[in-house]
Amino acid sequence: MNPVYAALGTTIFETMSARARASGAINLGQGFPDGEGCVPVVRAAADALVTRSNQYPPMAGLAELRQAVAAHYARHQQLDLSPEEVIVTSGATEAIAASFAALIAPGDEVILIQPLYDAYLPLVQRAGGVARLARLEPGSWRLTRAALEEAAGPCTRLIVVNNPANPAGAMLSREELADLAAFCVERDLIAVCDEVWEHVVYDGARHTPLMAMPGMRERTVKIGSAGKIFALTGWKVGWMCAAPPIVAGLARAHQFLTFSTAPNLQWAVAAGLEMQDDWIAESVAGFQRARNRLEGGLAAGGYHVLPSAATWFLSVDLKASGIALDDMAFCERLIEEAGVAAIPVSAFYAQAPVTNLVRLCFAKADDVLDAAIERMDAARSAFVR
Ligand code: GLN
Repeated sequence: MNPVYAALGTTIFETMSARARASGAINLGQGFPDGEGCVPVVRAAADALVTRSNQYPPMAGLAELRQAVAAHYARHQQLDLSPEEVIVTSGATEAIAASFAALIAPGDEVILIQPLYDAYLPLVQRAGGVARLARLEPGSWRLTRAALEEAAGPCTRLIVVNNPANPAGAMLSREELADLAAFCVERDLIAVCDEVWEHVVYDGARHTPLMAMPGMRERTVKIGSAGKIFALTGWKVGWMCAAPPIVAGLARAHQFLTFSTAPNLQWAVAAGLEMQDDWIAESVAGFQRARNRLEGGLAAGGYHVLPSAATWFLSVDLKASGIALDDMAFCERLIEEAGVAAIPVSAFYAQAPVTNLVRLCFAKADDVLDAAIERMDAARSAFVR
């Protein structure tokens, strides 16, 4: 086995979901909504399956979907992408893998920001890259110029930016984005921006893509996900957008990964991006209500909850909640004794993990959240002892 994979276990998301399936625990671990997602988009996919071609679509994606992605970003984020600058992928993770395969030459250094999504590091290493780790300040999750400067080395070519960030539930401020852009321009870096949470932002905030910052249009790969936008995570339809010299390389890598993505899903996502802006806004309002429900319920039971400005996740601070367990031990006891699956935030670190935070997914129905709150409340007295 390749040493990168030999050193790894199974991803924490699959591990926790498998345990929840086996034990019947309430699954607030892996991030997926328990609703039916955007029904008109599901219907469009079902319809396309019987009325349209089921043969290979064009490698870079259906022209209609590439056009719809470009139009979506023009409308929501004032970007001026052409359809030729969009490549459809089988989920955002494939877009990340293709970007790394295309843009990393052996020995290139890549800045990764901790806490980091667990796929980044092995994919960077498998592409021959050397990870340089920067860190967000736990709790405030601010990205400082000093942390970036410290992480950068002489061979640094790439930085991976997850904004809004999983698991932090934080968004980069205008100032942080401006600083990050200036840093990329000064160092001549390409930014691979995992922006799958771009619509899932709360409290009236708006997402600003790094690609829109000065000097970034030609040096950014912007990655998005229909699974997150339409609450259909199993579809694995995503895309990557970049200026022509970069996108040509991305296409070469993509052609030998998945080559293309199920055409009916592409038709449906194109239709959704064109017609479902209202549904997207309503679904985000629903996730915000769910966030408030879980946050309020846990806080009332004595848990210290960190603010969540975006994503489907919030984190509980064990230490501040008076619980003297680390995150792994807590998650173990939570699933065994309380029947609730969660994700230890240390799984998002390659080095010097933060061990007092536990991530919970709130994209669930009210009764599911209420039951989880009740179980966690009942279990808390055993944990604080
Ligand atoms: N993005 C999801 C999460 O953070 C996990 C996706 C996966 O399991 N591949 O929970």
